[in-house]
Amino acid sequence: MPDAKRNADHNDNDAHAGSDPHKPREGRERHEKHERHERHEHHEHSIDTEGLPAAIVVEKVSDVTRSMRRIRFAGPAVAGYLSRPRVPNVKLFFPDGPVLDLPKFGERGRYAYAPGQRERVRTYTVRAYSVEESWMDVDFVRHGAGLASSWAESARPGDVVGAVGGGGRLPRACDWILLMADDTGVPALAAILETLPEEQRGVALIEVDAEADEQPLACPPGVAVRWLHRQGADPAASPLLTEAGKALELPPDLNGVFAWVSAESHVVRDMRKDLRDRGVPRQNQLIIGYWHAGRAESEYSAESNHDRVTDESMIAIPEASALTADSLGRAMRGAD
Ligand SMILES: Cc1cc2nc3c(=O)[nH]c(=O)nc-3n(C[C@H](O)[C@H](O)[C@H](O)COP(=O)(O)OP(=O)(O)OC[C@H]3O[C@@H](n4cnc5c(N)ncnc54)[C@H](O)[C@@H]3O)c2cc1C
Repeated sequence: MPDAKRNADHNDNDAHAGSDPHKPREGRERHEKHERHERHEHHEHSIDTEGLPAAIVVEKVSDVTRSMRRIRFAGPAVAGYLSRPRVPNVKLFFPDGPVLDLPKFGERGRYAYAPGQRERVRTYTVRAYSVEESWMDVDFVRHGAGLASSWAESARPGDVVGAVGGGGRLPRACDWILLMADDTGVPALAAILETLPEEQRGVALIEVDAEADEQPLACPPGVAVRWLHRQGADPAASPLLTEAGKALELPPDLNGVFAWVSAESHVVRDMRKDLRDRGVPRQNQLIIGYWHAGRAESEYSAESNHDRVTDESMIAIPEASALTADSLGRAMRGAD
């Protein structure tokens, strides 16, 4: 096993910055914690392509709510994928027909996509996984219009998609956390809540269409969860989440605040500005557009270079340096 991977596996519990690593709380052992790794694309590194791309097979399809479909992928290819440094998000590659035409690696461990292949990659959260049992769950918003969403609508056990890489960041330890998500950010928000320490304080604001779209969340008692309901309004233009975020009173010590926002781009834009205007330090923010109204992910992934697909279709971990609290902090400040 390469050093990077071995270190990664040994650092499962020290990824949030701070001296007291967040530990999964009791009763959540099946939701093994996402390890914190960061990609360091612009630096010398070994590109770890082992286990990629993986043709992962649907084992089970269930509905978390009427608007959220959970697909469990299981089997040897999932085991292979999970043996890699584990990261919060997975890049899924969807077939264009009955046969899965996985992309191939070209030079320097980067994918050499055939025409039309890059357009079939989408970013999703690994909601939960088990290394021991070789499965991972991905929750799909059933928004209807897209490649991934349509695939999820008709997914059946035995169907196959590609896992072509992954990436992503997580909030770091803080005194007070603000979590804001629309439907697409709920899987990540739910996974984050599960890893927060029992004494965590903060607020989670979540926008969905109606009460029927709410789901149970395991959450420390000091984090208040507020569901907001659009009631049929267009999620691409809904002001609810932003209004609630802006109205929220933040603790006076902004250095102890961490803000995580994952939603449609209008929310992200407005919240970035609001939090900046209110003086939340930039390094205490992780604010990512999870979708753009009117545009498929592949249409804008190249121009917004965050947790999306371009070259980051693989996970690149610097030689022999698993993500430590310090390196996560540096990465989040953009210093890496
Ligand atoms: C780091 C990260 C993690 C993510 N995790 C998840 C996750 O766990 N679950 C999840 O469901 N999504 C998640 N998303 C969002 C998801 O990648 C996008 O919604 C993506 O566009 C869906 O692909 P698609 O093929 O269904 O639609 P696309 O082909 O990309 O888009 C087709 C059309 O659908 C619209 N559209 C896309 N998403 C929505 C939506 N939610 N509601 C209404 N219209 C929409 C687009 O604006 C476009 O007009 C994540 C995004 C990121 C960046």
